[in-house]
Amino acid sequence: MHRVLNREELLAVYDEQLEKMSPRERQQHLDRRLEKQIRFACKASSAVREMFDSAGMAPSSIRTVKDLERLPVTTRDDLAEMQRARPPFGGFLAVPLGSLDRVYVSPGPVYNVWGPERTLAQLRTFLRLGYPRFGDVVLVSTPFHMGPAGLGMTDALDRMGCTVVPAGAGQVELQVKLLHDLRATALLAFPSFAMAVLEKAEELGYDVRRDLNLRFVLGGGERNAQHLKKVFEEKYGLVVGDGYGTGDVGPVAYCCGRAEGYHYDDEACVVEIVDPDTGKQLGPQEVGQVVITLFSGIYPLVRFGTGDLASFTDEPCRCGRSAPRITGIKGMVGQHVRVKGIFVHQGELAEAMASFPQIIKYQMQVTLEEHKDRVALKIEVPSGVDREALAPAVNRRCQDVFKLRMDEIEFLPEGALSGSTERLADRRW
Ligand SMILES: [Zn+2]
Repeated sequence: MHRVLNREELLAVYDEQLEKMSPRERQQHLDRRLEKQIRFACKASSAVREMFDSAGMAPSSIRTVKDLERLPVTTRDDLAEMQRARPPFGGFLAVPLGSLDRVYVSPGPVYNVWGPERTLAQLRTFLRLGYPRFGDVVLVSTPFHMGPAGLGMTDALDRMGCTVVPAGAGQVELQVKLLHDLRATALLAFPSFAMAVLEKAEELGYDVRRDLNLRFVLGGGERNAQHLKKVFEEKYGLVVGDGYGTGDVGPVAYCCGRAEGYHYDDEACVVEIVDPDTGKQLGPQEVGQVVITLFSGIYPLVRFGTGDLASFTDEPCRCGRSAPRITGIKGMVGQHVRVKGIFVHQGELAEAMASFPQIIKYQMQVTLEEHKDRVALKIEVPSGVDREALAPAVNRRCQDVFKLRMDEIEFLPEGALSGSTERLADRRW
């Protein structure tokens, strides 16, 4: 178990005033730290040095966050490839392997380095929310094998002086018993699992508000998270901690509780939202890939492409923090098309189509017509369905969900699309 941090040490991990600098001060602060981080990364990591060499750039050419876009983005696939060529960490590791706290493995496989920096980033997320607290009994009900979900949070809770029950993700009925018998105040689980535990508690005759001591659960990380967040808050009166991070880089953004979206965690990293094709930084509300440069003395990843698509806003937030906010994760890079300047993600199309149970299968097809995008939606429906009424309703729904009007809606007989699993068919290339 890690040593519990004292009050001064906790204050050093999380300084709220630092997060409330003016946007201009924040930018300067970030630029200064980035410049230093890049100098360090080029010295300590051969992979970063080679990245600069092959771009024909000197470390000193990165002075600001804006300068980063001159460097290539390293995707997850690139990283997996680099690690295969030069195991285990592809030339990024800046310290001896034996000095690391943890090595996690994410699909690929990709090896992920976890040191005190990531643990403190997780701790900062808890401190911002105010939960869990010193002396709390906490059920960590996320998986403990390979990835950082279970052990990563446990490491942070240890530093706060919490009592951890490493419950893992399973045995719902036993989880209810643990919550009740141990008077646990926090349940750290993926939201749908937390909901399953609470529903089981009710099924067993418990009143969650009255019979349990539960105060705090986690949101985020799942497609239906926003809906569940409301239920946790309104039905059960719980505080919901929400944030965005990945198994590769750890927590990188957090919800302040005062507005939608996740503030960039400037202490942990530099966040960019970039065009997936060109790597150039995008403006507010434009959808692009989340790209992370870690502030790390251990594993200095530079411009790591998470594979997640998102947009951001720099509108002032009621909480007074100046870091921009990621406004929702829209899906994964590679499962989208850009048509008429609008990103359409496979998940958004599925969401629109889910409103119409009579649709058996569908495919959105994008073609070029005299150098212009043309978009047709092919849908399979059983005979007898009123196609004239369905077509405009489907088109309205598409515009509601992803702001794009179909040029044509074509009805196909049942079975016509059965040979294809393609939902977004880009026929322009
Ligand atoms: Zn805020």
